[in-house]
Amino acid sequence: MASATAFPRSISSYSLVSRESSVGSVKRQDASVVAAAAVRPRGRLMLARPCRALEPTERADSAVHAATAVEASAAAVREEDTVDYEKLGNELEIASPLEIIDRALEMFGDEIAIAFSGAEDVALIEYAKLTGRPFRVFSLDTGRLNPETYRFFDTVEKHYGINIEYMFPDAGEVQTLVRSKGLFSFYEDGHQECCRARKVRPLRRMLKGLRAWITGQRKDQSPGTRANIPVVQVDPVFEGVDGLGSLIKWNPVANVDGKDMWNFLRTMNVPVNTLHSQGYVSIGCEPCTRPVLPGQHEREGRWWWEDAKAKECGLHKGNLKEEGGMPASNGNGVVSSNGVISGIPDIFETNTIFNLSRPGIENLLKLEKREEPWLVVLYAPWCQFCQAMEASYVELAEKLSGSGIKVGKFQADGDQKPFAKEELQLGSFPTILFFPRSMSKPIKYPSEKRDVESLLAFVNALR
Ligand code: SF4
Repeated sequence: MASATAFPRSISSYSLVSRESSVGSVKRQDASVVAAAAVRPRGRLMLARPCRALEPTERADSAVHAATAVEASAAAVREEDTVDYEKLGNELEIASPLEIIDRALEMFGDEIAIAFSGAEDVALIEYAKLTGRPFRVFSLDTGRLNPETYRFFDTVEKHYGINIEYMFPDAGEVQTLVRSKGLFSFYEDGHQECCRARKVRPLRRMLKGLRAWITGQRKDQSPGTRANIPVVQVDPVFEGVDGLGSLIKWNPVANVDGKDMWNFLRTMNVPVNTLHSQGYVSIGCEPCTRPVLPGQHEREGRWWWEDAKAKECGLHKGNLKEEGGMPASNGNGVVSSNGVISGIPDIFETNTIFNLSRPGIENLLKLEKREEPWLVVLYAPWCQFCQAMEASYVELAEKLSGSGIKVGKFQADGDQKPFAKEELQLGSFPTILFFPRSMSKPIKYPSEKRDVESLLAFVNALR
């Protein structure tokens, strides 16, 4: 794998050309002829040779496009310490992705790289190409990607004449995990351990050699975890070459709508992963990604057996603001000592839905024979999927009112979560349980269709 050090250090064959740098006045140059000079935020003057198309059989010595970097002035080293990235992020909030990427590449030259997942973030590569500047691309090969994604990587390399810098997990670490827990342990105890070995640590290694990285995160991908991502920020989680607090994270498409992203890809005739035509929107590892249905949110296709709040693989962990194991209140509430967020209004608030306390549901669980069957939702008021099913659950409760079936709710986050996981089959929120009249063990609703008709069909099949 190439790194910044793989770039030749000589400048003898290139001319120094200063470049327009202001956002909104991107100056295109003939990529095959001119060398661009960029002032990095670290303050050193760097020469970078812009992209050139590679011959189909040619593998670049460097990771992507050949570039030349030189130390030009030690005296200027301190200059970038004055960059205020919060201010810069605010300034760039209304800039186009092209302008943002141009600015990022201009500032960081060969010490920035695009993180490419093999999905619609291929748009980042297209934008980078359009800037006319040299750029690097890396991908995490977890060993568990779909065959379509591997083929797509190859297509992208050929289409753009680039060599993707693949990062691989540590063989010993993966071997230990798989030998001790099997190939699919993430279905049993969550995806974090596997993601840590296959994604997070390789990413950390990659970023340790960079000063900045570019991601394809968008606000609309996950209202729960990505709603507030800035266009540029000091990376809150990972460290760059100069340690923690030194890595800059660029999110040029943060404000782009998914539809606009796809319009751009179509307009520019950009190759896309064939999995998209099979219903996949968000694309990750094969065992942890599935197509979504019309109307479903794209992140519902990832780690669908887990809580919505856990649906970050660790690559963008900074999006999750956790306190006491619970998501933070995103400004609307406070996490209390029992881990429950106060200040967020409760849901399923209607006379036809019984609010079960812990002793109440324990009692329901203990009964061998019940006077009437119960349908109970295990929920968390902050969970977007629980909120999304509120209207249909309330309507269902009204329909079942007087039918002899009781409808209830049990708030299962915070301190109640371990109990709910152990005793009530809680996997992710919401979990819906049917307690039959003559069976002690509740039956878990197996589907993610939470419309009234589907829920009624479930109840009628078991009543
Ligand atoms: Fe492992 Fe799934 Fe994470 Fe891939 S997405 S690293 S298979 S847990």
